[in-house]
Amino acid sequence: MYRDILESCGIKYSRQSAADITTFKGGGHAIVALPKDEAEFVELMERLEGSGAQYRLLGGGSNTIITDGEARTLLISTRELSKIEFDGDSVRALAGARLADIRREAHMRGLGAFEFLSGVPATVGGALYSNAGAFGEDMSKYVEQVQILQYRCDFCGAAHVQKTAMSARNAFEYRRGISEPILSATFRLSEMSMVESEAQARRYMAYRRERQPRQPSCGSVFVNGKTPSGKLIEQCGLKGVRLGGAQISEVHANFIVNAGGATSADFLGLVELCEREVLDRFGVTLAREFVLIH
Ligand SMILES: Cc1cc2nc3c(=O)[nH]c(=O)nc-3n(C[C@H](O)[C@H](O)[C@H](O)COP(=O)(O)OP(=O)(O)OC[C@H]3O[C@@H](n4cnc5c(N)ncnc54)[C@H](O)[C@@H]3O)c2cc1C
Repeated sequence: MYRDILESCGIKYSRQSAADITTFKGGGHAIVALPKDEAEFVELMERLEGSGAQYRLLGGGSNTIITDGEARTLLISTRELSKIEFDGDSVRALAGARLADIRREAHMRGLGAFEFLSGVPATVGGALYSNAGAFGEDMSKYVEQVQILQYRCDFCGAAHVQKTAMSARNAFEYRRGISEPILSATFRLSEMSMVESEAQARRYMAYRRERQPRQPSCGSVFVNGKTPSGKLIEQCGLKGVRLGGAQISEVHANFIVNAGGATSADFLGLVELCEREVLDRFGVTLAREFVLIH
């Protein structure tokens, strides 16, 4: 059904392998649409809304697992929506801009940005969706406004896409951000010398290198509760357990890595094992942090 819409909008699309579009690098295939600019993106979203087609946005694919075989869900990649515009200490970035690119440009202007996420391959849209964070900081620290797409017009009540700017700070909780489609965001940055920004980034990256696995993964599998999920999984003796090509990391038990040729079934088998064991042993229900595309 979505193919007709893609064809009539003239939007580029292709069948892509999870190995190429997710950082876990395992799973099946999906059709990925690639709007080339804001106008195409908005038009596509408008046409898809109410069409009955199943679709989902895709940023850097660093929190995404694609089911084995052929996914029914159309993925809309924001890769081409990567424009970044600075105005003093404020920056507006389209949803597909990589945080690493914003940080690099901020450096040149004597500004600091997202140092705590150094080494995390996130885009603006993906990071705002989950309010990505680490080392006690998260995206809400920087956000001033987010431009989202809303489908029902407040004035006429009809279902069509409108761009709405929301003042975003109070929209965030721990690992919960903005669930509407994000077009762009404006961040307020603060002064920081390039030397200091790089020193911070290096410190955070060194910490990650020491305590997190280097193999392909989707980051933390479960959200942390009162006791970190990795600790609970480790205490169940599951560190290093392997299923097919997937493995509960020996370095950090809240990561499941692709140790070579992992399928999404391998990954999900280990996810379910962790959920079962942690529930049996500690009575704790683990909450999944990754997004599964069917
Ligand atoms: C090695 C590694 C380390 C990581 N460390 C951290 C960490 O320290 N902290 C942390 O929070 N996360 C971490 N992650 C997880 C991941 O990087 C973050 O969740 C990141 O914010 C996801 O961004 P993305 O662009 O890759 O999102 P994707 O995986 O592409 O998408 C994730 C979700 O965001 C939605 N989305 C994407 N774009 C938009 C948009 N424009 N509008 C609305 N929704 C959108 C998607 O539909 C999907 O539901 C790590 C991942 C890896 C691989």
